[in-house]
Amino acid sequence: MKKIFKVIGIIALAAVIGFSMTACGEDDDSGGGGGGSTTTTTDGSGTTAHVHDWGDWTTTATCTEAGVETRTCKLDATHIDTRPVAALGHDYANWTQTTAPTEFADGEETETCSRDATHTETRTIPRLPFTTVANMGTWLAAQDENTAVTAYAVKLNVSDFGGGASVSGSVGATLLDNPTKFVSIDLSGSTFTAIPDQAFNAGMFSSTACAALTEIIIPDSVISIGNLAFNGCTNLTCVTLGSGVSSIGYSAFISCFDLASITVSPANTVYKVQNNCLLYNATTVVLVPSRVEGAITIPDGVTSIEMSAFLSCTRLTGVTIPDTVTSIGAQAFSGCYRLTSIDIPANVIAIGANAFNSCTGLTSITFKGMIAETDLGSELGGRFLSPFKGDLSEKYLAGGIGTYTTTTPVPEPANTWNPVWTKN
Ligand SMILES: [Zn+2]
Ligand SMILES: [Zn+2]
Repeated sequence: MKKIFKVIGIIALAAVIGFSMTACGEDDDSGGGGGGSTTTTTDGSGTTAHVHDWGDWTTTATCTEAGVETRTCKLDATHIDTRPVAALGHDYANWTQTTAPTEFADGEETETCSRDATHTETRTIPRLPFTTVANMGTWLAAQDENTAVTAYAVKLNVSDFGGGASVSGSVGATLLDNPTKFVSIDLSGSTFTAIPDQAFNAGMFSSTACAALTEIIIPDSVISIGNLAFNGCTNLTCVTLGSGVSSIGYSAFISCFDLASITVSPANTVYKVQNNCLLYNATTVVLVPSRVEGAITIPDGVTSIEMSAFLSCTRLTGVTIPDTVTSIGAQAFSGCYRLTSIDIPANVIAIGANAFNSCTGLTSITFKGMIAETDLGSELGGRFLSPFKGDLSEKYLAGGIGTYTTTTPVPEPANTWNPVWTKN
């Protein structure tokens, strides 16, 4: 209020004197030295008045605390202008790397506030993407060094595992000694190109398979999956293959008895899934998940059913083999004990050893064509073994095209089943 009265007084005086001026207190706010008029007059108190010539603002605010800004008139140090000011905030320079990241350890970077060098921030630079599965194993082994023997639930967030992958599960005292603790491994975004032989069986962790592993996402970068890579991962339920996989080794997913689904990136030009069959080049059935239920129709155009393709599909109740198929691999349908009948198309010229081993429900087989004796079975473990249980090979070679059935009951234990077949 005092200031307002002062201003009114000056305006009144100016009117009386007959010229105008910029009144003190209405000077510009541009800081140091603004105004500039040197016109003087007298204010209401009779002392000499002037246009303020302000100095620079100074502040009591800090990066984090609000304060006041003050400036002083150069013409009269008792003229002081103040205004409140908010906290200034930090003025950080660019991040500077202080520790370089490696594949095995995070790095660190720091930034310093230009207003106060004691204000610093550090942040983690994520570990570099693993270039090999072996390196991933080495890193995993180092994660658990301070924990008690008691298993604990943990999610190892490998956020820049080549971009967004994670490993989660209940991890015990030593990861590599407890491969069975892993329940989910998402390798998407990683950059390595091969999953080695027995990677999740013996090669990577230990001689034990990752028996608790339920899900694996194989990144687009992976080109090959080694032999027996997931052998014995008995709880593996979901497998996702990326766009790059062009080679899957033998028995890569053998003994994955819980495997319910395989998904392949639509961008993969070599593998695809059709009618629950993982197909190679659209011509070879590589694998059918063990948990598949009901009947399956193998897609037209398929020419071969690979070794162990339907191994232990214990819920498979029927399979239709297209006329394009020419070969059925060893152990192809072994353990499919709910199969009750099957037709072998005329173009089939070879059936491997034990192809229908342990198919204790299979009591009717129809041959549409003839297979040479030497191609009815194959060597397995150093011996030439029949595709069928009992005397079916002999009966078929003697009896030719037609349907063969058996009523021989399955004994205990079932592996001693030795059926006698009859041509209908
Ligand atoms: Zn002044
Ligand atoms: Zn600061």
